[in-house]
Amino acid sequence: MKRVFVTGGAGYIGSVCVEELLNKGHEVTVFDNLSEGHRSAVDPRASFVEGCLSDAEKIKSALKESNAEAVLHFAAHALVGESMTNPSKYFTNNVANGLKLVDAAVEAGVKKFVFSSTCATYGPPDTIPMTEDLPQRPINPYGESKLMFEKVLRWYKEIHGLDFVAFRYFNAAGAGDKFGEHHKIETHLIPNVLKVALGQAENCQIFGTDYPTPDGTCIRDYIHIVDLAQAHILAMQPDKTGFYNLGNGDGYSVREVIETCEKVTGKKIPVIEKERRPGDPPKLVAAAHRAFNDLGWKPEYPKLQSIIESAWMWHQANPNGYPD
Ligand code: UDP
Repeated sequence: MKRVFVTGGAGYIGSVCVEELLNKGHEVTVFDNLSEGHRSAVDPRASFVEGCLSDAEKIKSALKESNAEAVLHFAAHALVGESMTNPSKYFTNNVANGLKLVDAAVEAGVKKFVFSSTCATYGPPDTIPMTEDLPQRPINPYGESKLMFEKVLRWYKEIHGLDFVAFRYFNAAGAGDKFGEHHKIETHLIPNVLKVALGQAENCQIFGTDYPTPDGTCIRDYIHIVDLAQAHILAMQPDKTGFYNLGNGDGYSVREVIETCEKVTGKKIPVIEKERRPGDPPKLVAAAHRAFNDLGWKPEYPKLQSIIESAWMWHQANPNGYPD
């Protein structure tokens, strides 16, 4: 059993991870300002502190109170498109405020810092599937902000001896038993397509049909949220440190995702073809062998269809998302 401090534990990925940590017998404190997250997405077995990463004193006191051995840092802004219009929001929260957390972690003698990074740190890759040693040349401020924080962690390891695991997530999707994806403003592909299946929208939009891919739409590697959560638990093993991709190694185009949603839901999804969304690389697919070999990670739900099935179950059970 470990005491774990989870920022962003009221958000999509954080909430599912908190549930899995508690199921494994860990003791969890969630620190979240509820700007994107939902109070009812916090597992009732966890302690909850409403606080913002801009508030260094609040972080320090909450971290001290939790007596945490590990910090899992999910809290961040994570929208590529928004980062292209409001970069300041991304650098302020994802870098400057993140620094307050990592400084507090060093001061509190935390042993392990697990960070939610992203495949957006690579930019358009020269080779597919993408290994961790590819050059990192982000093409949007979101990816750049996460890359900057990766560099902070590398130096904090070298200078302060803080062990870290930085996970470069590919596209997190699907739902756990209790918790799923509800963003206050939804921009992600799968929940937006499922909204059409639920009758809450008339059509979904495809952003760009002229990419250099077989059907002209962007290709992404979708990973089940529960598999993502399991990797975080494995990251807390002693002596594990470094950068790891988390993906399944299969790429699906936007059109293929929509077709799979039609198959899963049995509903026709009308589409509208739109311009490209700024900041989107054409194709991102992971090679995650490092996580398999080094952490012993093995995705249980690698198929897109099972990922979408779990999302569909959650959205049907929670058509309006969380109440708060
Ligand atoms: N996308 C789309 N329509 C939507 C939402 C997303 O065509 O309503 C595309 C988006 O341009 C990208 C892919 O779907 O190529 C995945 O986008 P998402 O926002 O889900 O995740 P991201 O890859 O940006 O993290």
